[in-house]
Amino acid sequence: MSAADASQRLRQRLERVVRADVRAMSGYHVPDSAGLVKLDAMENPYLLPESLREQLGRRLAAVALNRYPVPGYAGLKSAIRERLGVPAGFDVVLGNGSDELITMLSVATATAGACVLAPVPSFVMYEMSARFAGSRFVGVALAPDFGLDLPAMLAAIERHDPAVVYLAYPNNPTGNLFDDVAIEAVVRAAPGVVVLDEAYHPFARRSWMHRLPEFENLIVMRTVSKLGLAGIRLGYAAAAGPWLDELEKVRPPYNVSVLDEAAAAFALEHLEVFDAQAQTIRADRETLAARLSALPGVEVFPSQANFVLVRVADAPAVWKGLLERGVLVKDVGRMHGLLAGCLRLTVGTAAECDRLVAALGQVLASRS
Ligand SMILES: *Cc1c(COP(=O)(O)O)cnc(C)c1O
Repeated sequence: MSAADASQRLRQRLERVVRADVRAMSGYHVPDSAGLVKLDAMENPYLLPESLREQLGRRLAAVALNRYPVPGYAGLKSAIRERLGVPAGFDVVLGNGSDELITMLSVATATAGACVLAPVPSFVMYEMSARFAGSRFVGVALAPDFGLDLPAMLAAIERHDPAVVYLAYPNNPTGNLFDDVAIEAVVRAAPGVVVLDEAYHPFARRSWMHRLPEFENLIVMRTVSKLGLAGIRLGYAAAAGPWLDELEKVRPPYNVSVLDEAAAAFALEHLEVFDAQAQTIRADRETLAARLSALPGVEVFPSQANFVLVRVADAPAVWKGLLERGVLVKDVGRMHGLLAGCLRLTVGTAAECDRLVAALGQVLASRS
């Protein structure tokens, strides 16, 4: 058989087997960032201090890699409950990043005709994950100021009867916190479960965690990624026991590796180091926002996260100009009409913020 015939046969086989909607997708694109100032993915720019890294190294060296994780993760869960403000009587389920918690929710709720609803623009995994599981996704446009359009949300909830409603608090990629009164109205109206995604909690320091006892249909989801541990892949979701019981059934039993587990436990013992880094990032965010606002032609949106959303004329060209000057940011302008012309800029170190502001100033000057 010729190489062309072989490839044709493989194509045909694949088309019989792989879903058409999956084949039509393009993969999640992560650009190569080698040598660049990496401000595209909301990573904390700081490492742990050297002495803690050495201690961590010894802890990880002592982990028995020949053993499966103990699937209950009792030690790590109790550290999370104690150190991260989970209310008494509530527990958590762990995910390999909160991405996996979203997958687990999608799988557990994908009854025939099920619907997942979220405001848009928001975190893209809500929609992707719902679709992968075979559910319908309904996106409800935010108001022009990026707040929740409450009448539209309530109307869509009434009409579509969503199994899951996601609210990112603060929202990605807009950076704002939705109004608490509007959130409460959504939680009360939702016939299914409402997931408050608090991925940016370290930078907003506002939370619905303590309000879990008030609502039977609330799940509060967080991750250690934006706090400074994106590499270890650990998310957690707190909710009333019966929700957790169902999610546990669809959780791959060994989803958090023994190395993730040990590193997270260590990090929780040194939470003050991460809290101090988050404090620095919050202060640098305010400085960065003020300096960006001072640049001609830049509209800066208020942020409670570790990134700043800006609008510029001809965002793709500005994105490219920044890249040419060694700074990688995220062009979110094509995600949604409300984001036209918008770039999302992660708050890096003070020196990285300097590089970003200088580069953006040059790019804008060269285009005016
Ligand atoms: C980054 C992000 C996540 C994903 O977090 P992981 O734990 O790294 O999977 C979830 N939700 C929002 C809103 C995010 O921005």
